[in-house]
Amino acid sequence: MFRVERCKEAVPANAPILYVHGAFGQRLAVEDDVDDLFRNGRATVSLGYIGLYEVAAAFFGGAWEGNDEAKDLTLAVLRRLQGATAAWKAESGYHFSVYSTPSESLTDRFCRLDRERFGAVTDITDKDYYTNSFHYDVRKNPTPFEKLDFEAPYPALASGGFIHYVEYPVLRTNPAALEAVWDYAYDRVGYLGTNTPIDRCYACGYTGDFDPTARGFACPECGNDDPRTCDVVKRTCGYLGNPQARPMVHGRHEEIAARVKHLPGSVRVDPAAPTGAADAAGSNPSASGSGVAAGG
Ligand SMILES: [Zn+2]
Repeated sequence: MFRVERCKEAVPANAPILYVHGAFGQRLAVEDDVDDLFRNGRATVSLGYIGLYEVAAAFFGGAWEGNDEAKDLTLAVLRRLQGATAAWKAESGYHFSVYSTPSESLTDRFCRLDRERFGAVTDITDKDYYTNSFHYDVRKNPTPFEKLDFEAPYPALASGGFIHYVEYPVLRTNPAALEAVWDYAYDRVGYLGTNTPIDRCYACGYTGDFDPTARGFACPECGNDDPRTCDVVKRTCGYLGNPQARPMVHGRHEEIAARVKHLPGSVRVDPAAPTGAADAAGSNPSASGSGVAAGG
């Protein structure tokens, strides 16, 4: 409710486009109370969470993904959070939701605070980061289909926001593999990020995944890590970020460095390889097929 009270301190003149000119779907006079636009389900206050993987790891060990009892525990945690938001809504008249928060920095902070208190706990605080929301442990490589099946039950309990993502190698010559995952995801999840290697070195011409270093990323061919002559793009959390130009907190960097691909293949873009769906599907259908089979 602190957040709600803080928002209510605003007056329409603070943001006329939002409050006075109708961007919130209702026009207020400059002397009106902005609370009219927040109450009765017109706005959402979110309860965020992070680290369901670590919660179950604490009780069932670090490889619990196939354990129904462990999975039920993580779903029960989310149901408990959802129940709390429903109660707050009934009590206050404001709409609360459970949010699978991006945790850009919290991934580092929560883990660091727990490490100070509990020491280095295997698969929990020893990684220097906490796993985002309900995500599959980033260090493991289930197929994209297994990952989506595993994660699919969670967003229904966390409607305030979420993302699934899959890490791919270069799939320029095998777009059918991408399409197979997207087709599979379409009926199962609400929001899917696709991460493919697109880092670029302007010093030597390399395109693909840069290698993680202690603090950032460097070209695997020539070692270049100068943000003026390279372009590094990683999915920070929900959005894409450029960690060379804008470094991340330690824990987030460790988390990205720990991510593995969910399909086999090269992380270097071969400039000589054909690109595009027509090329790949037409010239080498068996390669496309094997990629899909490897995933399924
Ligand atoms: Zn280079």
